This record gives sequence, structure tokens and C-alpha cells, in this order.
Amino acid sequence: MNRIDADLLHALGELDEPLAVLDGDVLVALNAPMRALLPGEAGQRAADWAAPLHGLASALGAPLGTGARCGVSGEYMARCVALNARHTLLRITDERARLHHLQRQLDDREGLLFTSRSLTVSEMGSVLAHELNQPIGATANLLRGLKLRLARRHPDSTDELAALDKAVQQVSYASQVIGRVREYTQSRQPKAAMLDLVDLVHRSLALLDWDLQREAVQLRLVLPARPVPVQGDAVMLQQVLINLLRNALDALRLDRPTAPLIEIELLCDGPRAELRVADNGPGITPQTEARLFLPFSSTKPNGMGLGLSICRSLIEMHQGRLWFSRRDAGGCCFHFALPMTADATQPVLEKMA
Ligand code: ADP
Repeated sequence: MNRIDADLLHALGELDEPLAVLDGDVLVALNAPMRALLPGEAGQRAADWAAPLHGLASALGAPLGTGARCGVSGEYMARCVALNARHTLLRITDERARLHHLQRQLDDREGLLFTSRSLTVSEMGSVLAHELNQPIGATANLLRGLKLRLARRHPDSTDELAALDKAVQQVSYASQVIGRVREYTQSRQPKAAMLDLVDLVHRSLALLDWDLQREAVQLRLVLPARPVPVQGDAVMLQQVLINLLRNALDALRLDRPTAPLIEIELLCDGPRAELRVADNGPGITPQTEARLFLPFSSTKPNGMGLGLSICRSLIEMHQGRLWFSRRDAGGCCFHFALPMTADATQPVLEKMA
């Protein structure tokens, strides 16, 4: 080794990623991180030294060019750089550590976004809850009064009475959501009651049955025959499901396929339950996908673009996850997964009022 090599050796010792110098097919030097990864001694044949990392050993058997990449395995990646006519610097990166680091960065970013989404939810929530509570309460009372009078004067108007019942149901749902938002902005905690996701699906569909009929959308339900218990806030979780279903209905209305379809599937996958809402609508472009969960991003003429961002916050408040995928046969699929309660046989499920 000449003088440059001595400086190089010194530099190798200072660097904390696995590095080695090869002279042709002989190992000349390796630093401590490389020794920890792949123990070896100067003078050893490179291919013998690298034998435990199979992909590397076979790559080192062949002549190496500058910048040559030797794919070692899914976990490690090796790269060679020619130092001079004789010597090659070999660097090994631990792909797992790199991906882990990348994932940590993404999680931190997601954490920051989550904080800002929570702020959006609580600020918007307080304003809306404050402004809407009174008129919604008044509307519910007016509708109930109207129904009583109609029942007295025209008891045979069954269609009208049924429609009024539906209107009261819708207004009660709105009032429950507002009440829940008011409570949440005070306690900053979702309620933690035991509830059944199968029941939640049926309750949500009951609120949308009129829309489903009007749009002539076929519904495909794949639900377990037994309750799927999760711990959570029934009103908030129902809000998520209704938002996803309304988005599916909007998509099918705005760009109607020949046979509009919504599929709801509930899967119990180990310790978590996953609910999927899919439609055979137009789907979304990659540009929309990139902004899907950002507040105020909408492609609808009158959309506010808050639904999905709020839904994601609500699910994350339940230690769950909400995400999007493309439906294989075209259209969108939204998924949310929630931890299931430990004892799935427990009979203590809260039926929603
Ligand atoms: P908004 O409904 O007010 O637009 P959302 O946050 O609920 O707000 O949705 C954001 C955007 O995501 C929608 O404007 C639409 O472009 C897209 N999107 C959501 N769900 C679907 C779906 N099922 N099919 C097609 N596009 C969808």
C-alpha cells in the first residue's frame, strides 16, 4: 500500500458505515463496522471472506467496475468504487436500517399532519356545534309536531308519515354528531364503549337507504354472522362510515356506471377488524390520490374537502388506520382498521340509540 492508502485506512476507521478495501480479489483492509458485519482479516481471499453473504461472494468472484452494484440480499446492498488501477472500495449498506429510518421519518411527518388535522377537527367542530345545535333541535321538534298533527288528522297518510319518520331519524343523527363534537371539544377524548361493527354498518345503511334507492345502487354486503366488537365512540365511527358511503354515492352519481355498486366488507384479521367500502365509480387520478386526506381538497362542485381528513383523524383517535386502495375492477376502496377487543365473545355490546 502506498501513502494514499494509509490515509485512506485512517479515514475508513473514522467512518461508521461498513467499508472494505480490496486489491483484486484479496481483502486489504476493513473498518470496525464492516468487521462487525462480516468478520475477516487482511490478506484473505475476498470471495472466502464474503461467503456468509452469498450474493456478495458471487459478485466479488467477477471483475468489478467503478460504481458496480452487487445486490447482496434483500437486507444488504453492496457498491464498489475503483480507487486506482488495483484497489476497490467496497461499501455495504443495511437496507433494513435505511428503510427503518425512512419509515421513522414518514411516521414523524404523519404525526405532525395528524396534530394539524386534530386542530382542524376541533376548531371547525366548536364553530359548527355552536351554530348548528339550536336550529337542528328546533327542526327536530317541528318535524315531530308535524308528524303528530298529520297522524291525528290523516292517519291513512302512511307514506308521508314514514317520510317524516325518516326526516326525524336524519335530524337526530345530525344532532347526535353535534352533541358528540361538543363533548369531544371539552373532553378531547372519544367515548370508549363496546360496540359492534356489524350493527354500526346496519345503522349507517338505515340512514342512507333512501339515497341508495334513489340512485338505484346495488349493495353487496359481506359481514360476519357474529358481532365484531371494538371499543370506541359509536357516533364518531358511524360518522366515518357514513362519510365513506356518501363519497361512494357521490362518485356513482357524478359519473354513473351501467350497474352502480357499493360493496361493504367487514373482515376480522387477527387482533383487528377491517371495514372496506368499495364502489365501481370512476375512481380517482394519481393527483387526487396524492391530496386525498389533506383538508380542503375536493374535486366536487360543492365539496369542502374535509370529509376524509376528518374521518382519518377520527379513526386515528381510536388507534386505528384509514387508507385508500384502487378497486381491482375499477373504482375506489376505502379501508379502516380498528383494534378488536380482546375477548370477541363478550356479550356487552352497546346498541346505538
Ligand atoms: P368532499 O367530499 O367534500 O370533496 P372528502 O374529503 O370526503 O371531501 O373527499 C375528497 C375528494 O376525494 C373528493 O372530492 C373526491 O375527489 C375524492 N373521493 C373520495 N371518495 C371517492 C370515491 N369513492 N370515488 C371517487 N372519488 C372519491
